[in-house]
Amino acid sequence: MSLAQLPEKREKLRPVDRLPEIAEPGFRLASLALHPERTVVTVGRGPGAVEIGASRVALVAGPCAVESWEQLRSTARAVKAAGARLLRGGAFKPRTSPYAFQGLGEDGLRLLARAREETGLPVVTEVTSPELVPLVAEYADCLQVGARNMQNYELLRAVAKAGRPVLLKRSLAGTLEELLLAAEYVLAGGNPDVVLCERGIRTHERATRNTLDLSAVPALRELTHLPVIVDPSHATGRRSLVPSMALAAVAAGADGVMIEVHPDPERALSDGAQSLAPADLPALVTRLGAVAAAIGRSL
Ligand code: PEP
Ligand code: MN
Repeated sequence: MSLAQLPEKREKLRPVDRLPEIAEPGFRLASLALHPERTVVTVGRGPGAVEIGASRVALVAGPCAVESWEQLRSTARAVKAAGARLLRGGAFKPRTSPYAFQGLGEDGLRLLARAREETGLPVVTEVTSPELVPLVAEYADCLQVGARNMQNYELLRAVAKAGRPVLLKRSLAGTLEELLLAAEYVLAGGNPDVVLCERGIRTHERATRNTLDLSAVPALRELTHLPVIVDPSHATGRRSLVPSMALAAVAAGADGVMIEVHPDPERALSDGAQSLAPADLPALVTRLGAVAAAIGRSL
């Protein structure tokens, strides 16, 4: 007879005996049950440092990919003016097609660092392989592990040692348990600063690029103390749907939203269809602030 069939006996067990049972899924460091205090991840240093997971909701914005200094500078200025607190932008781009724009590489990292100098915004950018971690960590304030790499365990082990916070995106077919186990690699490797990101999952639906699993936000908040943000750009793939899903994400309890913005979306080298124009931001930011206030938070 198993323990589960003997509730009286279970009750008599001391907490320490029950620990392995509670932690059974394996994400014991990420588990809210075992670590009831919520984690606040600080990105950047000094006056521009941004807390993710505290009461203020963080707006992360910027281009899908860094394309040129002009493009990055105008985007960075616009998102900063609109109230974004973190600048995103890919220098190493994991593209579905090998013929698509692959990013500017280290030149892109240099431009991101320059944009940070000009705007004061900390920078988040993707790292695509373990070998690149030291280089990207030299320039970036936060290392993004993209959806395609969520279960790249060598990469997870490498970012655990990079001395930078990690933004870990859920993979296209990843369960929440798999996402948390991926985060566990980073935590177990010695890096406590992990932010999870729901960015849409692959379903049968083709009207949107992916299907935004918004219930992942409250579900993750029940399972983990790590902050959770939402990327409505990759989740929908369509500019017209991004504002509604960003608002819904904040209403659902997300600690931040990450939005792609391009000064001329029609001419973007990647993800133009889902990128907002700078002019779209102020109205969205006003509404995000209103939703945040409605649930007792601020933007
Ligand atoms: C990105 O945010 O730049 C990106 C490539 O997204 P994802 O990994 O979620 O596809
Ligand atoms: Mn993109």
